[in-house]
Order: sequence, then C-alpha cells, then structure tokens
Amino acid sequence: MRNTENTTKAGMSGTLKVLDILEETMADGPGLRISIYCAGCAHHCPGCHNPQSWDFNAGKEMEIDKILELIKEDEFSNVTFSGGDPLYQVEGFTILARRIKEETTKTIWCYTGFTFEEIVADERLSQILPYLDVIVDGPFIESLKDKELLFRGSSNQRIIYLTEKKDDTIPGAVALVQPK
Ligand code: SF4
Repeated sequence: MRNTENTTKAGMSGTLKVLDILEETMADGPGLRISIYCAGCAHHCPGCHNPQSWDFNAGKEMEIDKILELIKEDEFSNVTFSGGDPLYQVEGFTILARRIKEETTKTIWCYTGFTFEEIVADERLSQILPYLDVIVDGPFIESLKDKELLFRGSSNQRIIYLTEKKDDTIPGAVALVQPK
C-alpha cells in the first residue's frame, strides 16, 4: 500500500488546496464538466503529464462552500475531481462530493493514482466512494501509455462505474461493484 498520509491540512478544515478550476471542459470525462484540479500528489509517476501538480503547497486554499457555489453556477456541467490526486485531500473532497450529491443532480468523476482495490481496503480513502459515480484509478505507467484511450493515459488505468449514472458508455469502462 502506498503512502496515503502525505496530505495538506487543507482537506481537514472546510477548505481544499486547488491549482485550478476549469469550467465547461470536455477533457476529463464525457460531456461538459467543471474540473477541480487539486494540489499535491505523492505517486510521482514517471512521465506524469503534470509534475507541477505534485507540490502539496502549490495552488491556493479555497473554501469548499465557494467551490460548491462555482459548481452550482455552471448549470450544464457535471463535475470532475482531478489533480494532483484528490484522495490526498480525501476528507475535504468527501465533504464536497456529499454536498454535490445532496444539492445537485450532477455526476462526479474522480481521478486518482491509487487503485480501486487500495481505496476499498483503506477506511480513510474509501469514505468518498459512496458519493462518486465514476473513479478512474491507478498510476500512470509510461510503458502502457496509449493515446487511443479515452479519458485516461495508460491501459492499466480503469474507468470504473460506481453507480448507474454513467453519463455515457465509455469503451473499456468496467463496473467492479454492484451499481447503487
Ligand atoms: S497520479 Fe496522476 S498526478 Fe500523480 S504523479 Fe501519477 S500521473 Fe501525475
């Protein structure tokens, strides 16, 4: 199991460390999405597309309330959590995901360098799972890089449906769990 503890205080206190928020993007899942790019990743995958995102002290600390406001204002977009790795701030992203589910009908995709099996086996990481629709899991592995893959960089990474709200059917996506 890889280290899960290298986190910022941000996720613990009603805030998240955010590098950028992109509205109406089509790169991080099907359809229009608002993507929250968080700061910090300790996976350090060789060939990572965005090594600037590894720094846990980069970006700015944003109130979860403010992020939720931006998400609600973007009326037609669903939501993607990316980074960095959102699961290093799992407490804060769980709060945000729960509130998105309580207050909107938007779907949530979450990118992470942890595998689904690692997440399920870890009480802290798995707290977010009930609020996600799709998880794209696993580290980027350069030798398995494939430019033909939709919404992921290497063929070890899986698009895993956690609910029946699939947005769309993505080639190669799998349902490892009984959809909610
Ligand atoms: S998990 Fe993603 S952000 Fe983190 S090092 Fe790997 S490719 Fe980069």
